[in-house]
Amino acid sequence: MSSLFPNILSKGKYTYSDFKMLTSGYVSGDIQESDMEDWIKHIFKRGMSTKESALYTKSIIKSGQKIDFSELDAPIVDKHSTGGVGDKVSLILGPLLAAYGYHVPMIVGTSLGHTGGTLDKLCSIPGYRPYLELDEFKNIVKEIGISIMGQTKEICPADRKIYELRDRMNMIDSYPLICGSIMSKKIAEGIDSLVLDIKTGNGAFMHSMDMAINLGNLLKKIGELNGVKVHVAITDMNQPLGIYSGIACEVQESINALNGNGDSDLMDVVYHLAKSIILLNDEEFDKEKLEELINSGKAFNKFNNMVEAHGGSLDEFHNKNYHSVKPTHVVRAHENGFVKSYSTKTIGEVLSSIGSGTLGNKDGIDDWSGLKVYKKIADKVSEGDPVLEFYCSSEEKINNLSKEANKIFEISERATKKQKLIYQ
Ligand code: URA
Repeated sequence: MSSLFPNILSKGKYTYSDFKMLTSGYVSGDIQESDMEDWIKHIFKRGMSTKESALYTKSIIKSGQKIDFSELDAPIVDKHSTGGVGDKVSLILGPLLAAYGYHVPMIVGTSLGHTGGTLDKLCSIPGYRPYLELDEFKNIVKEIGISIMGQTKEICPADRKIYELRDRMNMIDSYPLICGSIMSKKIAEGIDSLVLDIKTGNGAFMHSMDMAINLGNLLKKIGELNGVKVHVAITDMNQPLGIYSGIACEVQESINALNGNGDSDLMDVVYHLAKSIILLNDEEFDKEKLEELINSGKAFNKFNNMVEAHGGSLDEFHNKNYHSVKPTHVVRAHENGFVKSYSTKTIGEVLSSIGSGTLGNKDGIDDWSGLKVYKKIADKVSEGDPVLEFYCSSEEKINNLSKEANKIFEISERATKKQKLIYQ
């Protein structure tokens, strides 16, 4: 144990320099891994005050570089979702906000637990470079209005290292550590405002509304104490969002949405988050203006321009014929009635096992893997109707689809209520 450590574990209140010593010391190797493990365990029991969480976040940002967009006049904005199944909102909202005139420097993650990762989805576009040098990232944000990439070594290196350790220790679930990790990466992007989409429901990490509200409050305070305006939205994750969940199929669904053919639930979330971020920056929100940006093709053009700037090609994406993929496993209604509920987390786990994530899957991401949802909660079904269809490039994986796949929804004889989508 380093000599600094006994001191840190018994300290009453943490200061910025305590956190700086810990986070930058861990990156440089001055703080040993065993010490950091002890500190993480300590924080699990002790927690942190809001002020401490904000200072911890600042120390993580300072372990790397913070991008400077001060030469730009338009708002620098971003969105973060706490993760869900079929959540491809960033791929639609980001280009839409860029077409609106905002700048969107979006640093995103790969799959986490049973949820999908935006970066994995983008990587199904042939040629797409997921990691750029900061100067190139910044130039694309300046010129096109949007760039989406993964966390590179310059952005919050302390978070990369501490997150990896928390993952290995199976100790992800601490509010201050989660919030510090999420907000440091967002604030380091150089944004001035952020909309958070906190997912709640049986497919979310925040199962209950109370959990979602608590997380949202802490994220918002950390943002504000670090000079970023934050709006917290809370939206539903009791069924997959939109029609498709997986890898390339979600990119295709996003392209369809950017061309005016988006599923209504999906677009309701997109417009709700767009409204939230616009009202943080402008006096008024005009939904028709956003619809026009979609109908005119301007939002899609932003997406296409960004893909090209990252070295990707949508023509080659279409040539891959991802939609024609076989083999499939169709889950059918076992009786007449109405869809009552989904076990959304199980859907995410099954998806991951066939290649849409890394949980329970050692073979890496399968771009062809995914799910089509034929019926949403409250839809009428007849016995034998397809409800869900899973697919991936491995016949063996599809044949071995866990028995779980046949038990992931409930049907009720009586009509059921449509699932509420937007809570806040
Ligand atoms: N996402 C992050 O980026 N960090 C966490 O700690 C949890 C989710």
